[in-house]
Amino acid sequence: MRTQIGIVGAGPAGLFLSLLLQRLGIESVVLEMHTRKYVEERIRAGVLEQGTVDLMHELGVGERLKRQGLQHGGIELRFGGCGHRIDFRELTGGKCVTIYAQHEVIKDLVAARLAKNRPIIFEAEDVSVHGLESASPTIHFRVETIPSVGWEFWPRRRLPRMS
Ligand SMILES: Cc1cc2nc3c(=O)[nH]c(=O)nc-3n(C[C@H](O)[C@H](O)[C@H](O)COP(=O)(O)OP(=O)(O)OC[C@H]3O[C@@H](n4cnc5c(N)ncnc54)[C@H](O)[C@@H]3O)c2cc1C
Repeated sequence: MRTQIGIVGAGPAGLFLSLLLQRLGIESVVLEMHTRKYVEERIRAGVLEQGTVDLMHELGVGERLKRQGLQHGGIELRFGGCGHRIDFRELTGGKCVTIYAQHEVIKDLVAARLAKNRPIIFEAEDVSVHGLESASPTIHFRVETIPSVGWEFWPRRRLPRMS
């Protein structure tokens, strides 16, 4: 399989990168060691900073976030018997944080990528990068089964060798 960029990991970093590259017309393949279900259900972050929210809207993946995300414009710290409000919007020129679970972000990013038939190879085993500083680096990996989603994008002659 030939591509322009190989991305190891379907976390927020890898998936955002793949969509940013996609927008620039640069092909990539994302390799993820876990199943799609696992990455879409893995509980992690819950608070998104403004930059992430802006990027999701910019990439056209912010529709659910807009409907379901809860905006928080500040926090209150309590000490010395009284509350001290930290007003994010006032202190940052209108920015706030949004409560929207990271695994929901992952679902949105995975869906956006697969909707365009761009490959994410889940359950990729023994992923290793070679020749990183050469003109043609390679990534070796093994898959037990050919994924049904995103794979049809690749002509058969580009299917990876199974070992
Ligand atoms: C409990 C918890 C709460 C958090 N709360 C917040 C929060 O509120 N706000 C916030 O901004 N951040 C929070 N974070 C941090 C946030 O979750 C991370 O910054 C974010 O997940 C990092 O994204 P990433 O894509 O760099 O890495 P990851 O999310 O770790 O993704 C890396 C991916 O690569 C895959 N991978 C790794 N090695 C290989 C390999 N060899 N081959 C194939 N695939 C591989 C992994 O399976 C994974 O899917 C929290 C983290 C935790 C654990």
